[in-house]
Parts: sequence; C-alpha cells; structure tokens
Amino acid sequence: MKFISQSSLGLATFGAALSFTAASLAGSAGPVFYGDAPDEHHPWAVHDGNRPQPKLVTPGTFSSPEQPGKPPSDAIVLFDGTDLSKWESPKDNGSAPQWTIVDGNVLRVKPGSGDIRTKEKFGDCQLHIEWAAPTEVKESSQGRGNSGLFLMGRIEIQVLDSYNNITYADGHAASVYGVCPPMANAVRPPGQFQVYDIVFRRPLYKDGKVVDPGYVTVFVNGVLAQDHTMIEGGTGHMGRSKIGSLGEKGSLQLQDHGNFMRFRNIWYRELPPRITEGGTDGYLSIEATLAKRHEIATSVRQDAEKMTNPQAQMYRLLESLIYEKDDATYAKAEQMTTQYMADLKQLPADKLTPKKDEVKHFSDVCKYLAKFKIVPADFAPRVAADQMIKDQGWDKKKP
Ligand code: MG
Repeated sequence: MKFISQSSLGLATFGAALSFTAASLAGSAGPVFYGDAPDEHHPWAVHDGNRPQPKLVTPGTFSSPEQPGKPPSDAIVLFDGTDLSKWESPKDNGSAPQWTIVDGNVLRVKPGSGDIRTKEKFGDCQLHIEWAAPTEVKESSQGRGNSGLFLMGRIEIQVLDSYNNITYADGHAASVYGVCPPMANAVRPPGQFQVYDIVFRRPLYKDGKVVDPGYVTVFVNGVLAQDHTMIEGGTGHMGRSKIGSLGEKGSLQLQDHGNFMRFRNIWYRELPPRITEGGTDGYLSIEATLAKRHEIATSVRQDAEKMTNPQAQMYRLLESLIYEKDDATYAKAEQMTTQYMADLKQLPADKLTPKKDEVKHFSDVCKYLAKFKIVPADFAPRVAADQMIKDQGWDKKKP
C-alpha cells in the first residue's frame, strides 16, 4: 500500500496509515499497535483490529398503518400473515389454535378459544409485535381491548386499549402486568395498529441462585415504556410476583381476554449471551478478561505459526503479546526482531533507503509495546532501529 508521510498529514491520520500498514502485514482486519492495550477489565485494545466484526444484518422496513413492515434478515418469523403453523393452543398439550386470520394478514383472537402460544421456545430476544384493539369501544378499564403477551409463557407485557381509558397503572398497555406501569402511555386510538419492540433478558441462575434477575425493555410506537425493568418472576392477577425459576426457554403466549384483538408482523431475533453467561463484550471481571485474553492470544499465535512471511509472522507474534505474556513467544519474537534489524544493517545504502518507512514503523511498534510494558524501553531491536533512523537522518523533518 502507498505510505502517507507523517509530515503531510495530521498525527491521527498518520496513526491510521501506520496501523493499516501493520494490518496489511499481519492477519488482523484493522488497527493493531494503535489504541490503548488490553487491561484487566478489557480483553481488547481500543480500536482493536483483531476484534470480531459485527454480524451483518439487513434491516427490515417499518410498518405503516396500512401495511406491516418487513423483519430484519436474521429474524425468526412467528407470524407473517400467512398461517398459524408456528402456533398451538396450550389446550390438550398443544392442539391446533382456533384464532383466525382476517384481512389477509392479520391474526385475530377468537374469544373463548383460549390463549395461543408458539411451538418454539426461546429466552433472550428482541421481539417485535403489532396489535390493534377493536375500533368499536366497548366497556372500560381492563375489560376494554385486553390481551397480553407472555414472555417465556410467564411474564405478561400487557396489551390493552389504553387510549382514553383509565385503569390501574400497572395494568396499562406495556406494563409488566401487576409489577411496573409503563413510563408513558403512547397508545394510538383503537382500531389502529400499535407497535411493541421489546428487549427481553431472562433471569439467569447458578446453583439455584439468581445471578442476574433479567430485564425487559419495551418501546410502544417508538416511545420508551419499560427501561431495563427488572424481572421479578412470573406475573399474575392480584398476586405479587415472586422470583422463581423460569427455566431457560419458554413459548411466547398471546392472551385471549375475550376481546377481538388483532396481531400482525410477529418476529424475534436471538440475542448474544450476556457477560454473566459468558458473553465477552463489555466490562468483564478480571477472571473473564484473563480467560478471553488467553483465548485471543492463542488464536493470534496459531495464526502467526501459519505465516510464511517472516516479517508478518514477527509482527503477529508481537501482537499476541499484547493480550498475554508468554515466555516462548517473547523469546521467538525477540529473536526474530533481532534478526530483522541485523538483516537491515547488512543492506547496502541503495537497498536500505527504500526501507525508511518500514524501519520507522518498526520503531513505532516497539515504542507502543514499550509504552504498555510488553517489551522493555531499552529493547535492543528498538534501540537498533532508532539508531538506524538517526544515522540515516530519517528523523529529520523535510525541508
Ligand atoms: Mg392482559
């Protein structure tokens, strides 16, 4: 790649050019020897080129009042308007649901037929669901446009025609029923579709104890209604929720509360594990950080072993030391860097001159490694490189 000189650009740009020079030599996908090194709570360096790229997802489209939107590419579709193949009735341990498809793509409660639930069981998710209450307003409070969705079959996020409808606060639309009222009532008039977007994190248990209570976040028509509300267990009418095991997975259950409620465009996305269950993004414990750093270092070392270009291998080995000190790797890297400088010193002037940027890069890498105490400040190959830069006049600014 074309090297951009430090003098022609700002330092930050130089840093980027430098790091991508390194990246092109090594096996990483972005900057290395660049941002602050890993520490006891962060296994990755800042802007770490070895950090995995985020998963690619093609976004869906938003719904309009007339038409449901499209789910994102990795969504697991539970109802797309065509059929109820993903659903069953809890009756008789999973009989065919009696709810009906109306208006071409809308699922409607058949009052008196009972709740329906997904055949599939799942836990942590991003859930999208749209619902509408009957246009004709009948009754009031909990008798008006009532349904609900039960996460893992147990935790009811209330569905209610809360438009100009007074009821108990913890029973409004988007309440965690009986536990926590919504922060805002952003429900549209009856007849119109409402959009719920939910982030659900189930409780986690270890040895019978709760290690993470779980949380639910709910947006209603884009307005935040539940903000990381703690799960207190299964919900119910009149009874206080009790923290108890909900298991690892459960069905999504929709409530038949006797009203002709309608649903459309139901999908969810699985979520990656949280730190408390072995996830690795965020602020980790010291033990988890060390474990992850070991894993990254091992992977980088293995990658280095496969490299045939000695210079690329040298840099890759140095990279691995950022994550984990390892005597054998250090010894090999020291030997390779020493050899690298010795070889450069043997070059005649006409062969050495074109190596200016390469040597300066090596010096910068050593400076980085010394800053984070991965090599000593007087690391011999660094001293040799700096001496070469001085001898060649490469440290002088261009006139
Ligand atoms: Mg309900």
